[in-house]
Amino acid sequence: MSEELHLSCQICLSLFLLDGSPEAEPVAAPCGHVFHRDCVEGLIESRYQPLCTICRAPLPDMTIGLLKVYLNLEESEFDRELQKAVHEATAPEAPDLDVTLAIEECEEKLHALQEEQQYNQQVLSALESQWIAIDKLHDDAKKRANELEGKLHVLTERLAELEGRHD
Ligand SMILES: [Zn+2]
Ligand SMILES: [Zn+2]
Repeated sequence: MSEELHLSCQICLSLFLLDGSPEAEPVAAPCGHVFHRDCVEGLIESRYQPLCTICRAPLPDMTIGLLKVYLNLEESEFDRELQKAVHEATAPEAPDLDVTLAIEECEEKLHALQEEQQYNQQVLSALESQWIAIDKLHDDAKKRANELEGKLHVLTERLAELEGRHD
């Protein structure tokens, strides 16, 4: 970073904090140097002929000669470096081995579950066809029972007839 890039105020030597407070906002003197508004206004009010602390150029004796500046930190070299560092720390370009392994593990589990579901489906349809067969057997048995009941009825009547003749 360039030595000429004064990101700190050269009156109070602290950094420009862009927190939106009007006293701490950076302002430029006519010479182009940037200070905290409070710091440079304090300097102007306390001196008869105030001078820039960096280049010794005369400062305006009226604070109206100060220009509000926007440091555009989001476009500065510093910010680009910071963004890069944050990006590298939070979003690695290639997924690391742990992530790849975890994905493979999940895919394997999913595959196993799919196979298990397929097997369950087969068992279910086998049970369903068995149920249909059992149902049919049940129907057949019922028909056979009805038939036998009919025959038994006939035999009972015949027996009663024979007994009547016997008497
Ligand atoms: Zn300051
Ligand atoms: Zn200056």
